[in-house]
Amino acid sequence: ADGVMAVTQWLRECAEVFDARADELNKLDRLLGDGDHGTNMARGLAAARELDLTPVAAASDALRHVGMALVSTVGGASGPLFGTFFLRAGANWPRPIQTAGVASAFEAGLAGVMARGNAERGDKTMIDALAPASDALREAALAHISLGEAMDTAAAAAERGRDNTRSMIAKRGRSALLADKSIGVVDPGAVSVAIILRTAANHVG
Ligand code: ADP
Ligand code: MG
Ligand code: MG
Repeated sequence: ADGVMAVTQWLRECAEVFDARADELNKLDRLLGDGDHGTNMARGLAAARELDLTPVAAASDALRHVGMALVSTVGGASGPLFGTFFLRAGANWPRPIQTAGVASAFEAGLAGVMARGNAERGDKTMIDALAPASDALREAALAHISLGEAMDTAAAAAERGRDNTRSMIAKRGRSALLADKSIGVVDPGAVSVAIILRTAANHVG
């Protein structure tokens, strides 16, 4: 199916970007945590890229397979969180694909991540990139904007959200141990969300 092909092509690009940026993400995580976030995500996306999605009929199922691959290979705090996002977004993925349905899938994924990690907006986590992306998709849907354009605005929102984590005080995860010493560093999980959104914008819609 077309949607499964788009997921496969997105996975290939996304895995390449995480591979290329693993050191950068590890460095950020060394300043805020234990220095493994890039290695974790690169391993997870490499495993997801190796999935054989040819027998998978729908993008919804493909995204759930990605979620399971991330849960079982990324590890750490972020594995279950990114995994939950894809499991929930996949379970709510629209067919036929359109902006409002994708907005709803993102809202379901975001709610899953927030419940699982007990974190909110402003806690300096991946949520600070994911929530603005979800908001942007909903606004685009209400304005009847095409999915391709909506994904571009969502990626841009994730990138702004990522940059905004620099001035935040960490409230969740290992970085919360640093308290106000976490100010001045961008959250690596938020960088990962921006990578996922920007690469997805190249293949969805
Ligand atoms: P670990 O901290 O176990 O080594 P990673 O380094 O792979 O895991 O992931 C760290 C990232 O996970 C952080 O940058 C943050 O974005 C995200 N994170 C950690 N805890 C939470 C939480 N409770 N809710 C949301 N995101 C979180
Ligand atoms: Mg870490
Ligand atoms: Mg770790």
